[in-house]
Amino acid sequence: MSDGENAPEVVVGIDLGTTNSLLALASGGQPALVTDADGAPVAFPSAVSYAGDSVLVGRAALERAPLAPEATILSVKRLMGQSLAELSPAVQRHFSVNLVEGGSEGRSHVEIEIEGKRRTPQEVSAQILAELKRRAEAGLGHPVTKAVVTVPAYFDDAQRQATRDAGKMAGLEVLRIINEPTAASLAYGLGGKEAEGVIAVYDLGGGTFDLSLLRVQAGTFRVLATAGDTHLGGDDVDGILVESALAALAAQGLSSEAVESPRLRAQLRAAAEAAKIELSASEQATLRVKDPTHGVNLELVLTRAELEKAIESLVARTLELCQGAMTSAGLTPDQIDEVVLVGGSTRVPYVRQRVGEFFGREPHTELDPDKVVALGASIQAEILSGKNAADLLLLDVTPLSLGLETFGGGVNKLIMANSGIPTQASVEFTTPQDNVTAISLHVLQGERELVETCRSLAHFKLKIPPMPAGMPKVKVTFLIDADGILRVMASEERSGAETEIEVTPVHGLTDEEVDEIMEESFQHAIADVNLHQLIDLRNESATVIRAASKALTMAGDGLTAAQREPIEAGITALEALCKGDVNAEIKASLEALNDACEPLAELVLDRAVNAALGGKALTELEDAVEHAIQSTVDKGGR
Ligand code: AMP
Repeated sequence: MSDGENAPEVVVGIDLGTTNSLLALASGGQPALVTDADGAPVAFPSAVSYAGDSVLVGRAALERAPLAPEATILSVKRLMGQSLAELSPAVQRHFSVNLVEGGSEGRSHVEIEIEGKRRTPQEVSAQILAELKRRAEAGLGHPVTKAVVTVPAYFDDAQRQATRDAGKMAGLEVLRIINEPTAASLAYGLGGKEAEGVIAVYDLGGGTFDLSLLRVQAGTFRVLATAGDTHLGGDDVDGILVESALAALAAQGLSSEAVESPRLRAQLRAAAEAAKIELSASEQATLRVKDPTHGVNLELVLTRAELEKAIESLVARTLELCQGAMTSAGLTPDQIDEVVLVGGSTRVPYVRQRVGEFFGREPHTELDPDKVVALGASIQAEILSGKNAADLLLLDVTPLSLGLETFGGGVNKLIMANSGIPTQASVEFTTPQDNVTAISLHVLQGERELVETCRSLAHFKLKIPPMPAGMPKVKVTFLIDADGILRVMASEERSGAETEIEVTPVHGLTDEEVDEIMEESFQHAIADVNLHQLIDLRNESATVIRAASKALTMAGDGLTAAQREPIEAGITALEALCKGDVNAEIKASLEALNDACEPLAELVLDRAVNAALGGKALTELEDAVEHAIQSTVDKGGR
């Protein structure tokens, strides 16, 4: 290997997959998998096996899995950024290693315990990344220190952060985390500066199905919707064929002991997969299994038509999920401009045909569906390395909205889901009570409108000197940097008080949970918005009533009875309506009170000006003026 100083600076693209991981490099806009010292592509199963002090990675680890299941980790990606409590029983059962809850109080994360030693999913993923790096360096002949790594579109902050940490542990600086469907689209050249439209990325792998709808516009990708099933893929097709084979064997009088034999099962699975793959190229294939110890000698002829019939409902299920994503994005198939296929199972001609029919257009199939994600990542990597003249693409997005708790339990969203990052947003507010000395800030993530239906990310306090209600000018800013880390800054303008926190995700959400959150927010959207509006209207009413009452005490003597009466009646009416939940009535009554207060506001202003001209202290009146002015401004909802 040449020394680092003279080595060319390269940035590689890495598809850190659930089943397989691959590393690619683009040169002059042309992406290709990197080859190792033996000329083989740097691509291998995402498997890690621990044996004492030694670690096996890739095919060697996969081969060891049946011999040492308790020391071999497959599909570690499913654990990234999660706590044990967050993993569904189905996901937990999938693992043959011992999973335990790690971390400290309030910051839990799942850990893998092997031979009494605990490791985080990041450490295990780092082994895979380090092996990719090692093989690529051996092939390229120079160090590889920078990478773009892909993650599923539905990965949340914690899962993305965990992926970035894994890169760091492997000695790789992760310049950018990008979404897998975005990478696949880039591989097909669908992300150019001029490109505009909606892309459907249909990803059917061995164990999972994902559909992503992306809007590409001026070199940026936005995720419009995702849908999927974490337990649907080519393995299920193999399972269906295994069942057919077992039925044929049962007809030949196979013993129940033989049926239970793991060895026979493993053989049947391998033969079923081989026959399935052959049927993608031929009209007919033979599923062959020989197991003399159980007296098995099976030759089952399968036709492509039979396979298609067997997998019809499985494919239909993926299309139902596609329909669900399109409905939630408010799109119809004719609004989809491009369809991209990802994952080995999209090689099945029937899958291609049904997807093409569903979207009403021919899907892109020119590239290897197993490689497109890595290839696309390397295109983005080349752009970031400055070696590709294409304009910088803004690819990262925040998967869920971020906001602050408001008075009464609502959530004020500052940064919406799918915003490109880096990004920042601010909100300003005051205190509704006198002499508040600490403002509690509660940072939340989620799509729903109320605190209890969103995920709590952090609580912190801004200490301020005591002031009358309405005087403090509090400003809270959310800033997500290019690394996806959220910082929240809070300040009070009059006193100069300020504080800041970095919100590191406590743990991640499962895919199912993200889907659930999205689904729930969709179902509850209208009810949530109404309830949120009710909370805001009640808060605003309380502020106006308080300000009007105070102004009446101070300057009410200057009003005529005809001016005073509608204010008093308005306060009583608004107070009564706020006990109910009819938004329109509260809003109308609030507006009426605001109108009625106009002469009072003017009077308070006049007196304030006179007092100022008379050289008197203003502080008390200033406060009332502020409220009076505020009460004449219709702030309108959030
Ligand atoms: P992936 O997870 O994307 O690597 O996809 C792996 C799945 O694709 C496995 O279920 C494979 O059996 C399946 N697969 C790979 N090649 C083919 C093929 N030519 N025809 C049908 N299925 C395939």
